[in-house]
Amino acid sequence: MVLTGAGVSAESGLPTFRDANGLWEHHAIEAVASPEGFAADPALVWRFYSQRRAGALTCAPNAGHRALAEVETQLGERFLLATQNVDGLHARAGSQRLVEVHGNLFRTRCSACSRPPFEDQAQYLSSLPRCDRCHGLLRPDIVWFGEMLNPAHLKRVEAFLAHPAPRTVFLAVGTSGVVYPAAGWVQLAKEYGAETWLVNAEAADNGAHFDTFVCAKSAEVLPDLLLGA
Ligand code: NAD
Repeated sequence: MVLTGAGVSAESGLPTFRDANGLWEHHAIEAVASPEGFAADPALVWRFYSQRRAGALTCAPNAGHRALAEVETQLGERFLLATQNVDGLHARAGSQRLVEVHGNLFRTRCSACSRPPFEDQAQYLSSLPRCDRCHGLLRPDIVWFGEMLNPAHLKRVEAFLAHPAPRTVFLAVGTSGVVYPAAGWVQLAKEYGAETWLVNAEAADNGAHFDTFVCAKSAEVLPDLLLGA
């Protein structure tokens, strides 16, 4: 079981939350990534996400993303990847057994009706997009600050960790261990008897719960660590 965060995409050129000091064009990220921010200024929020779409499209998966996709082909159903990233780079590297717990930058949904989310790479810079079913405002399919994670996603991760196996390894990569519930999965994994590993460029907030800490950049160490290459 692997959990990734923004650090795994840093070597692809995408800034982590901390790299950006939690700010975008002097706005706090919470102001552009929350239901309150969207209600106050949806055009600003779409400008932020349009820029992020453009930025992510110019980046490519790195050796860390590729190693995770490769280990999945070896382990099949014995592998699961949960990511807090919304950049779509794991899927572009070939990962399929993937739970995107915070949503995906390249999906849009209606803020008003239950129309299913749809694939969308468009940038909305001059006018606000509207639902062609109910005319409500469309929004990014991202789990914003203060919103609930999809219970089916949480259930999938928890069921995977609970499934008995002769040896289970829980590996967290490129995550500061601040954002819950993902930051608590290391403890859950331990309760179920897993070995716990952390690969991160610096100590993480939940670092005390890991058996082994590899202080390194993910694209540099994951190929070796996962594939022995
Ligand atoms: P974070 O920014 O809080 O922490 C990233 C961690 O990665 C840091 O501890 C940093 O030291 C480490 N790191 C940086 N470069 C690294 C590298 N090359 N190899 C290994 N580790 C490296 O990120 P988070 O824990 O994912 O939480 C922030 C929230 O912001 C998440 O909820 C996420 O959804 C969102 N976010 C997503 C993206 C993305 O999709 N790429 C980018 C920024 C923020």
